[in-house]
Amino acid sequence: MGKGGFYLETKDPIIKFAVVEKILNLARANSLWPMTFGLACCAIEMMSTAMARFDIDRFGAGIFRASPRQSDLMIVSGTVTKKMAPTLVTLYEQMPSPKWVIAMGNCAISGGPFAFEGQYNVVEGVDLLVPVDVYIPGCPPRPEGLLEGLMKLEEKITGTRRFPTVEQKW
Ligand code: SF4
Repeated sequence: MGKGGFYLETKDPIIKFAVVEKILNLARANSLWPMTFGLACCAIEMMSTAMARFDIDRFGAGIFRASPRQSDLMIVSGTVTKKMAPTLVTLYEQMPSPKWVIAMGNCAISGGPFAFEGQYNVVEGVDLLVPVDVYIPGCPPRPEGLLEGLMKLEEKITGTRRFPTVEQKW
């Protein structure tokens, strides 16, 4: 049983209390616990996000857990091979609900540079295996991209955005 104690395996609660749900979602969004799980080069950018320069702790998501049973966020950062696919699904299933998935980088989104006719070992999108909540494009995306992905996920969980988006002037 995780942060959402009255949840079963689905994301839908058995009983809904609007105000309690709002408070729980605020707590969940501000204390995401990602799983320590990296697959390829994108994982290096994910690790950088935890370092002092980018400081993912500012968003309450800095506690990377070594067990799926203590995690509510899977950041798929790298190439998913067909050999790795069953393990990824098992890890996802071992995470308590409610849980979320971020597909970080083009490999996780669509197979990236490894998606070509005749390839035989890469899963062309992790959404073929598990439900994905946020997609972060790039090869690799920068740590700022992952932080923006976290903001998007928080927005999805709470329904409101914590920080305003910065508009591009060009
Ligand atoms: S998207 Fe690019 S950087 Fe990320 S794992 Fe694939 S090849 Fe590596």
